[in-house]
Amino acid sequence: MARKPLIAGNWKMNLNHLEAINLVQKLAFSLTDRDHDAVEVAVLPPYTDLRSVQTLIDADKLRIVYGAQDLSRHDAGAYTGEISGAMLAKLGCTYTLVGHSERRQYHHEDEAVCNAKVKAAYRHSLTPILCVGEGLPVRQESRHVEHTLAQLDGALDGVPADQAKTIVIAYEPVWAIGTGEVATPKDAQEVCGAIRTRLAELYDGEVAAAIRILYGGSVKSDNIAGIMAQPDIDGALVGGASLDQGEFVKICRFGE
Ligand code: PEP
Repeated sequence: MARKPLIAGNWKMNLNHLEAINLVQKLAFSLTDRDHDAVEVAVLPPYTDLRSVQTLIDADKLRIVYGAQDLSRHDAGAYTGEISGAMLAKLGCTYTLVGHSERRQYHHEDEAVCNAKVKAAYRHSLTPILCVGEGLPVRQESRHVEHTLAQLDGALDGVPADQAKTIVIAYEPVWAIGTGEVATPKDAQEVCGAIRTRLAELYDGEVAAAIRILYGGSVKSDNIAGIMAQPDIDGALVGGASLDQGEFVKICRFGE
């Protein structure tokens, strides 16, 4: 079965709940049924916006889906400040990011943490969008494929095929995130192709063919077309540009 492209907007720590409603309303106004038939559009607001986004999307039966930017590896208990998968599921989230490079960098999330979070997401029927990708020094040493595949292996350790076949992988080279420096389509395809090959080794060809692999890192309306033309890239994880309604809609239309 063909993989439906996914364009997911990571709002990061931006927009209060009123601004969130405003942006989702504008997106809903611009996106047509034709857009939604062609592409799955997701927004990933801060936790504090989720209830407002849920209320709007449910009330107007919008076809935009939503998720969180992180979740706790624990399900409940004395973990001050954390948000569980159960809480996100109760708010109607479809997705949760796991292992975004900003979590890895500022919160020291390693493969074991990412693995626990992937499993926590599945315990609550959330679909993880697992972020992997190398920093600049690793790229300069040409170890980017090996590094990214090691992150993938670690995060998927012990995850059964029936769960893994629904995961979304986002290849996000850290040097391209928020820098304006986008990977070339060829560079992005090199790693995304290697990810799919590794998924076939870890599981099988059918599972690997079902999994959507996104590219993320300074995606804009003027570079998305080249990225989407690559055979192993099934969409984009968009940071900064997802806060601009007009730009995000153009990205959802692959630049047209
Ligand atoms: C991101 O936050 O995942 C991201 C890709 O950011 P940006 O598009 O701003 O580079």
